[in-house]
Amino acid sequence: MKTISILGATGSIGQNTIDLIARQPDAYRVVALTGGRNLAQLAQDAIRLRAEVAVTGFDDGLPELCDRLAGTGIEAAAGQAALNEAAARPADWVMSAIVGFAGLEPGLHALRHGNTLALANKESLVCAGALLMRQARANGATVLPVDSEHSAVFQALVGEDMAAVERIIITASGGAFRDWPLDRLHGATLAEASSHPNWAMGQRITIDSASLFNKAMEVIETREFFAVRPDQIEVVIHPESLIHAMVGFRDGALMAHVGPPDMRHAIGYALHWPDRGALPVERLDLVKTGQLTFRDADEARHPALRLAREVMAAGGLNGAVFNAAKETALDGFIDGRIGFLDMARVVEDVLHRLSADASDRADMTLDAVRHIDALARQSAWDVIDGLCGG
Ligand code: NAD
Ligand code: MG
Repeated sequence: MKTISILGATGSIGQNTIDLIARQPDAYRVVALTGGRNLAQLAQDAIRLRAEVAVTGFDDGLPELCDRLAGTGIEAAAGQAALNEAAARPADWVMSAIVGFAGLEPGLHALRHGNTLALANKESLVCAGALLMRQARANGATVLPVDSEHSAVFQALVGEDMAAVERIIITASGGAFRDWPLDRLHGATLAEASSHPNWAMGQRITIDSASLFNKAMEVIETREFFAVRPDQIEVVIHPESLIHAMVGFRDGALMAHVGPPDMRHAIGYALHWPDRGALPVERLDLVKTGQLTFRDADEARHPALRLAREVMAAGGLNGAVFNAAKETALDGFIDGRIGFLDMARVVEDVLHRLSADASDRADMTLDAVRHIDALARQSAWDVIDGLCGG
C-alpha cells in the first residue's frame, strides 16, 4: 500500500489527484491533506479518504476545521508551521499542488524523507529551482513533473540520452485571448481572462494562460527541470492542446506526446511512475480531431515570453523576482486595480528595479529567496500604485 499526502488537496490539481486515488481505495493510505479556505471540502475529503491529518494554511480556519472533524479521529491543524510539519510526515508520494510561492516551503519539507514529490507547483522551480533540486539530491528524493508539458517531455525522454537532445518544444493553447487583436486586449476583463478554451483549472493559472505568463513560467520550469540551455527551449501556439510537448533529437526526430487536455493523465503518470497505470482519461480519436495546427508564439504580442528569456539569461534570484511580481500583478488585476496588459509592465519594471539585488550569484538559500520575494512584492505594489496614479 502506498502512503500519500496531497498539499493543496482542495484545488483543481488536488481534486483531480483525489479522483484518481479514490478509485483505488485499497491501494493507498492517505497521510496528510492540506487546503486553504475551503474547509468544508478539506474536511469532507479527509473523512472520505481517512486521512491522518488535515491542515489549513490559514490560522483562523482552525476552529471550524476542528468542528468539522470532531469525533472522526482525524487531527486538525492550521498555519504555516503545521503545513510544513504535515508535509514532512513520511509518505511514499507527495503531491505539491498549492498555488503560488506558498507551495515552495512545504514542498521542501516534503523532500526531507527521500520520497517522491509530484510537482505541480511550478512556482517552486521558477523561484528556487536550484534549492529544490539540491534538497532532493541531498535526501535521495525524486521530483516528478506534473505540469502537462513537463510530464510530456519527461515521458518523451524515457530511455533517451540527454546528450542527444537538441531542443524541447512546449505548446501553449494561447489562452482565452488567442484570437483577439492586440488593441482589444487593453480592455480585457477579469471574467474574460478567467475562462480557458481547453483546460479546466484554478482561476490564477487560467488568467496566467491568457497572458502567457503561465507559459513563461513553464519555459523557466523546463530549464530547471531538464537542465537544458534557454536557447534549446521553444514555445509554439497549438490551439487544440492535444500535443503537450515535443523533444527534438540530434538526428532530427521529434518525439511528441499527444493526449486529451485532462490533468489526470500527468498526475496519474507521476502516481504510477515508473509503471503506467490504467487511467480514466478520454481515448483520442485522431480521425475525428482531423487536424492539429501550430502558430508562432510572437514575443512582441506576448511580453511574458520575452521576460522569461531575460530572467533565464540573468539567473540568480531573478526567477523569484519574476514570480513575485507576476503574482502581485495578478492580484492587482483580479482586484481591478490594473488592466490586463499592465501585468507585464509591472513585472518588467520590478525586474529592472531589482536586477542588482537579484543577480547576486551567492548560494541560493530559502532565506535569500524569501527576502527577494518580499522585496519584489513590495516593489510591484509600488509600481501598481504608480500606474493607478498614487
Ligand atoms: P487552485 O487555486 O485550484 O488550488 C490551489 C490550492 O492551494 C488549494 O488547495 C488552496 O486551498 C491552496 N492554497 C492557496 N493558497 C494557499 C496558502 N497561502 N497556503 C496554503 N494553501 C494554499 O490551483 P490549481 O489550479 O490546482 O494549481 C495548483 C498548482 O498546480 C499551481 O502551482 C499551478 O500552477 C499548478 N498547475 C495547475 C494545473 C491545473 O490544471 N490546474 C496545471 C499545471 C500546473
Ligand atoms: Mg502546463
